[in-house]
Amino acid sequence: MRHIPHFINGETYSSAAESTAEVFAPNTGGVQASVPLADDTTLQLAVDSARRAQSAWSTVNPQRRARVMFAFKALVEQHKDRLAGLLSSEHGKVLSDAHGDIQRGLEVIEFACGIPHAQKGEYTDSAGPGIDVYSMRQPLGIVAGITPFNFPAMIPMWMFGVAIACGNCFILKPSERDPSVPLELAKLMIEAGLPPGVLNVVHGNKSAVDGILDHPDIKAVSFVGSSDIANYVYERGARAGKRIQAMGGAKNHGIVMPDADLDQVVTDLVGAAFGSAGERCMALPVVVPVGEETAEKLKAKLIPAIKAITVSTSDDPAAHYGPVVTSAHKARVEAYIDMAISEGAELVYDGRTLQIPKESEGYFIGPTFFDRVNQSMVSYQEEIFGPVLQMVRANDFNHAVELASNHQYGNGVAIYTRNGHAAREFAQRVNVGMVGINVPIPVPVAYHTFGGWKRSAFGDTNQHGMEGVKFWTKIKTITQRWPDGADSNDNTFLIPTMG
Ligand code: NAD
Repeated sequence: MRHIPHFINGETYSSAAESTAEVFAPNTGGVQASVPLADDTTLQLAVDSARRAQSAWSTVNPQRRARVMFAFKALVEQHKDRLAGLLSSEHGKVLSDAHGDIQRGLEVIEFACGIPHAQKGEYTDSAGPGIDVYSMRQPLGIVAGITPFNFPAMIPMWMFGVAIACGNCFILKPSERDPSVPLELAKLMIEAGLPPGVLNVVHGNKSAVDGILDHPDIKAVSFVGSSDIANYVYERGARAGKRIQAMGGAKNHGIVMPDADLDQVVTDLVGAAFGSAGERCMALPVVVPVGEETAEKLKAKLIPAIKAITVSTSDDPAAHYGPVVTSAHKARVEAYIDMAISEGAELVYDGRTLQIPKESEGYFIGPTFFDRVNQSMVSYQEEIFGPVLQMVRANDFNHAVELASNHQYGNGVAIYTRNGHAAREFAQRVNVGMVGINVPIPVPVAYHTFGGWKRSAFGDTNQHGMEGVKFWTKIKTITQRWPDGADSNDNTFLIPTMG
């Protein structure tokens, strides 16, 4: 069976002493590979390798660091089909979506290519008599990223792209459920000219995460995953004195105003609710039509659109979406469907009856649609992370804003309307971090920044864009004076002012 090794000091690394986890094959069921679960010795090897590389890498000038990013981007593009195939076979997302996963990561690499500009400090000349003030953004040292299964290319690139471009050395702990693509990306970084040790990949589960959080030489940790674990990572890492950003789960609402273009809503919603089997933190699993008439019209249009969805293996070009990642995840999603039924939601379309004749052991769930969901239902309050769309009917605009604003998660939200005033009002008032106006999945472009509110993010700095540069650097501010001998400074007992 294929074994997926660690990657330390520019080379693959395996240790017979470590336990392993199974990497499943969501299209067919069964196990396709094994992945090691790092012990303290392996983590220490990665930290040692990063430490040896750190001082040289931090002094490489920024345009040379950028050149590695340019070369890496070209290499990933060259290997895109192979990477997308590997990604799709471990995750279960369809090939076109796997390409999108890689492409969105590359857009952050493109941002990182501009690091000489993005990392520049500020300068004020003559801030006082003969005094200039300037700032510089210096790398933190050895830093780490812990990533979820659902974007095995994009999220590692969000993190290591910016961190390494800023002059840090990086330890990546990818999801143990689809670990191959992160490893391949690290190999391509070395091929692109990155010195060994600047990017290391250490596989593992909770114990590797705890090792990273407790390690005194790791200065910052970026985490993306589910909320309870994000909260844990934030608290444990902060207690150990680290800088932490920890992105969590989501339950994004799509508000549909009575004046919306319902055909457009249905097209967008079906893709945003069911694409990638709903395993996206920016999916739209909750639709909120405003008013009974809007709800009835939308429901009538949604049912045939959902029936027309094709679910098949991820390499089938006809598939709109493929299997979920593991059988355990399939069971979890199905348990939420059972829960919603027992809570009294109206099951309009039941995806559990889906038949995939040739691949009966794969982890498939058909699209599932509930109407008459309400705030008291646990199946509404929690993240399902599967191909399940829940309709919550709102009485009016204010009710719709409150639903999205009061939910425990605040990652993304969308509004569909032709009314600019309503859209503007919504964007101003809603208590959510990323807003789409007639845009179903409002993932900001790489040079803006990604991050939710409430239990969707712990810590106060977002991913990528200038927020990413801030997260991965520390600022130093210098006040300088070069007296020529004629200057005097005769009142040194007072707090200095600039006059
Ligand atoms: P997860 O929380 O199970 O795993 C994330 C990472 O944490 C993995 O690397 C995993 O190995 C590690 N981990 C697992 N159990 C742990 C434990 N007990 N202690 C410490 N670390 C542990 O998440 P997942 O299932 O891989 O990913 C899906 C989740 O990620 C969803 O909740 C989704 O909404 C969220 N997500 C959020 C964003 C965002 O930006 N807000 C983006 C993508 C995914």
